[in-house]
Order: sequence, then structure tokens, then C-alpha cells
Amino acid sequence: MALKFAAGGALAGVAAYGLYSLNQPKKDQLKMIISGGPGSGKGTQCDLLVNKYGVKHISTGDALRHHVKTGTDLGREAKAYMERGDLVPDSLVIGICKAEMETKEAKQNGWLLDGMPRTKAQCDALDTMGLVPNLFLRLDVPNEVMMDRACGRRQDPVTRQIYHVKYKKPPTQEIEARLVIRSDDTVEKMTNRIKQYHKNTTAVSGSYSDKLVALDGNRAPTDVFPAVCAAVDSALRLEDCTESASKTARCGGPPLSAAQLSRLGTPRSLSAVA
Ligand code: AMP
Repeated sequence: MALKFAAGGALAGVAAYGLYSLNQPKKDQLKMIISGGPGSGKGTQCDLLVNKYGVKHISTGDALRHHVKTGTDLGREAKAYMERGDLVPDSLVIGICKAEMETKEAKQNGWLLDGMPRTKAQCDALDTMGLVPNLFLRLDVPNEVMMDRACGRRQDPVTRQIYHVKYKKPPTQEIEARLVIRSDDTVEKMTNRIKQYHKNTTAVSGSYSDKLVALDGNRAPTDVFPAVCAAVDSALRLEDCTESASKTARCGGPPLSAAQLSRLGTPRSLSAVA
């Protein structure tokens, strides 16, 4: 009887703890913005980050393409801007971002915002929504490399896998035959997209100067990823350390500086698909 009572008590305790921990905000939650020009490799790094850290990936470009494809009102409004390689109006992307951030997945797993903010107004909107990242990571890649990567980029519509005509050829002729080109991955549209990127990047990076880590993205994705992870781990460690002085003991050393992170890996010329 006493044993039964004790077992019941233990079970109730475990259940209560489960409920308690479910309701507690995660301490080391990743809240990250990844920035970089078109073809800088953001998409590839995002896939790797989602796989490693389990965060919710929010790509405004993917969401907009989905709206265009499914013919929503928002998609119809965005389409002409996207086809020119111009930025769509701030209100459209802010609405998309707000909806995604309100999902249970983003709240529980942390978030990785890709392709936004691209203007100062978008930075301010994030701030107003209380969306403050613990890391703003920028991938720097020369214009001609971004151009070369994007214009040779092909996508498999079946698996969504990205290939490149020179740097990552599809494994079979069957796959090669069905590859598609993104409508804005042309020289003319890329010229405008790169221009738009440079027009806004100083203001956007300036809004996050205290969280900014700029990395050399002109390397193979497998060379970039360790530097990205070092930046993430350092940012999480910093967050954890600043949360309370009592936790300093388990911080395992000081966070790396942006200069240290940038030195990770050896830059090399174009050898990767964005
Ligand atoms: P991306 O896939 O991120 O290169 O985005 C593709 C296109 O979607 C861009 O060229 C813009 O037309 C539009 N877009 C995506 N994100 C944004 C944003 N945050 N602000 C304005 N336009 C955006």
C-alpha cells in the first residue's frame, strides 16, 4: 500500500515537472538572423542549421514564392516586384514574418530568419514585435561570385534539391532533365538584386551592430558551416552568461570575437553552390 502510494506520488511528481518544464521558456533558444546577398549561400547554411539546432526556419523569399505559386492576394501583389528583382513592400513581408513567429514551433524551438530584414523599416518592425536576435550573421561574397552561383543554380522540383551547372551537377540524366531555373536567377535580375542588397545592407547591419558576425562566404559550404556553428555557439554562450552571473561557471570560456570567427577556415575561391 505504502509502495503504491509512493509510486503514485513519484508519477505525479514526474508529470508535474513535465508540465512545469513545458511551460518554461527554453534558456538557450537560438534566435538568429542570417543575411547576405543573393547567392551568398544562406539557403544551404539554413538547411544545415535546421538539421543541427532544430530551429524553425523562416524564409521570406520561400514564403513569397509559395504565395505567388498558389495565387493568393499577397502573391499577386508581390509577383511583379519579385520578377524585377525589386524588394516587395515592407508591409507584406512583415505580415508573413509575424504569422510565422506566432507558430508554436517558432516559440518552442527558436527561429532562424532568412531574407529578412532587408530594410531599416523591417528592422524597426521586428524590434516593435519584440523579436530581438541573439545573433545576426552575415555571409560576405563578392558580386561576381554571387552572380555566377545564382545564374548556374538549378532546382529539382521533385526533391527541392539545389544543383549547379558547374559546381554541383545532378547525379543522373533523369534528374538533369527535370531541373528548373528560378525566374529571378538571370543576369539582368541578379544585377538588380545585388544592387538592392548593397543599397540596404549598411543600414540593416548597423541596426544589429552589437550582434553582428560577418563571415567569408566565398568558400565551400562545408568550410563555411563550422564558422557559422562557432558563431551560433558563441552567441548562445554569451546569452547564457549574461542571463545571470551565477551561470558563468558553466559557460566554458569567453565568446569568440567577430575577428576570431572570421579567421576560422581558409577562404578560397568559388567552389560552392549557394
Ligand atoms: P530571396 O529568395 O530571399 O532571394 O527572395 C526572393 C525575392 O523575394 C527578393 O528578390 C524580393 O523580391 C522578395 N523578398 C524576399 N524577402 C524580402 C524582404 N525581406 N523584403 C522585401 N522583399 C523580399
